Amino acid sequence: MTATITLSLEIELGWGFHDKAYGSELFSEQCTVESRTLDRLLDLCDRTGIPITFDIVGFLLNSPGHGAEPSPHSDDWWPSEIGETSEDPLYYAPSLVDRIRSASVDHEICTHTYTHIPCADFSDEILNWELERASEIHQEHSLQPPTSIVPPRHSPPSRAILDQNGIDCVRVAAVESPESNISSFAYYLTRSHPIQKPGVVNNVLETYTSMNTSLTAPYLQNGQKSPHPAFRMIPRRVRKRIHRRYLSQTLERAVEKDSYAHLWSHLFNISNNIQFPLVAEFLTELEERQQQGEIEISRMTDLVDTTTN
Ligand SMILES: [Zn+2]
Repeated sequence: MTATITLSLEIELGWGFHDKAYGSELFSEQCTVESRTLDRLLDLCDRTGIPITFDIVGFLLNSPGHGAEPSPHSDDWWPSEIGETSEDPLYYAPSLVDRIRSASVDHEICTHTYTHIPCADFSDEILNWELERASEIHQEHSLQPPTSIVPPRHSPPSRAILDQNGIDCVRVAAVESPESNISSFAYYLTRSHPIQKPGVVNNVLETYTSMNTSLTAPYLQNGQKSPHPAFRMIPRRVRKRIHRRYLSQTLERAVEKDSYAHLWSHLFNISNNIQFPLVAEFLTELEERQQQGEIEISRMTDLVDTTTN
């Protein structure tokens, strides 16, 4: 029995929250911790040989001071922090992509749209513009145009517009979020990860994952922010043990069923000394299981080759 495993990591920084009233508390001053964490992660991937699908908000690749663009968006969509004199690292981070590209492991750089739009809330015209701009900025950085997409907030994009833009793989949440805070408290501590093979729907390959982050734990510190007080009532070492078990059981169940699992998180989530060591341990476990022939690691783009050929 061999399982296929995909890991995806969202790099969106401030763009993930520019339409929200919260978010800045998750990040370090000048994004120094997130930047250092990416380097630590890339080193770890080089040591273990594990490739990741990094899904990136395209605007981050622009040089500081690029500013708002002529677009089908309304003017108020563009965050005030991106003005002509801005070097704000929450909105401009072209060097992060350069570092991913210069790693020894061949990671995938796919798209998380150009300005982090929840796709289903926007018109086809805007989605099309977002994907065209993502493709252009990739090519300006000598990257291949993206062929995979991780839709912001799992909001489903039009498959026809994806197809038109050469996107043939999309990440999809296979399970719904719990409805209340009380039910989510129990849910996250006892959840099991979706084990489901990718499938082609309307010409696009869908790869199924969890609604909330799975490579990191929602009940541990995320980025610079402490977890909900209800979680903090449980000792941290117990919560860490729960997350380790969740990750290992995901692999075991995927192997047992000869199936597939896709785990994900954001760069900011792993950027602290609680979550990062757990990710590091997990990558080592993946390396060992890969050497034993139990699992294969596929980037999203590889899934298309193996599933449709
Ligand atoms: Zn996002």
